Amino acid sequence: LRQQIEKTKKMEAVTHMAAAISHEIRNPLTSAKGFVQFVSEDDNLAQTQKEYLSIALQELNQAETVIRDYLTFSKPSIISVEEINVSEELNNTLKILQPLSNLNSVQVKTDLTLPGQIQGDRHKFHQCFFNIIKNCIEAMPSGGQLYVKTMNKGTNILITISDTGVGMSEQQIHRLGEPYYSTKEGKGTGLGMMVVYSIIRAMNGTISVKSEINKGTTFLISFPRKV
Ligand code: ADP
Ligand code: MG
Repeated sequence: LRQQIEKTKKMEAVTHMAAAISHEIRNPLTSAKGFVQFVSEDDNLAQTQKEYLSIALQELNQAETVIRDYLTFSKPSIISVEEINVSEELNNTLKILQPLSNLNSVQVKTDLTLPGQIQGDRHKFHQCFFNIIKNCIEAMPSGGQLYVKTMNKGTNILITISDTGVGMSEQQIHRLGEPYYSTKEGKGTGLGMMVVYSIIRAMNGTISVKSEINKGTTFLISFPRKV
């Protein structure tokens, strides 16, 4: 029992820390980025200075990405169990990612006419689908279609997310969820899918992936419906 209490305490500390990082470090990071960007627009800079500022900016962007993949929706509490309105939460996630889909000329289609609910941690649910959908949008840098659908299947709720993006080989699919596995040279963290898999596991869900190079990718995620 004492070990269990120790473990819970540790988990609580980590979650607190996650929330603190996402809230307390994000703002100064954004502000630092703004100033670096501002200085780099000065016409009187030497070439080397420009280069150094550009490296600084890249590094700041990378730090921001790590926080986003890991901690965006963390909150200071132990994993909570609440009712999640799947369709509503997916709509929220899509809204947050709207600027990115606009930037990539991605058309978003949804079929979210689902009355059902699942049980779990709403913030983690957000983080999970934010990471999946962001990957889908990033897989379509010059446009495409994102499709998000929910349906009831037996005692489960099935969520389908598909893109018409670059796709993955069998081998790439296999490596999904491996820490630091990323094909986005310098722009990715390779932590997004790892977080996705761990959240789905924690919420008693399953995930499967179908993909074809240059055709697109489909993620099928299933959770037990709340009875
Ligand atoms: P990151 O996005 O930072 O690279 P992730 O863990 O989110 O890390 O994803 C790991 C890798 O999986 C990506 O770099 C990409 O190669 C591949 N991937 C994930 N989702 C998709 C997708 N929808 N289409 C094509 N490739 C994908
Ligand atoms: Mg990602």
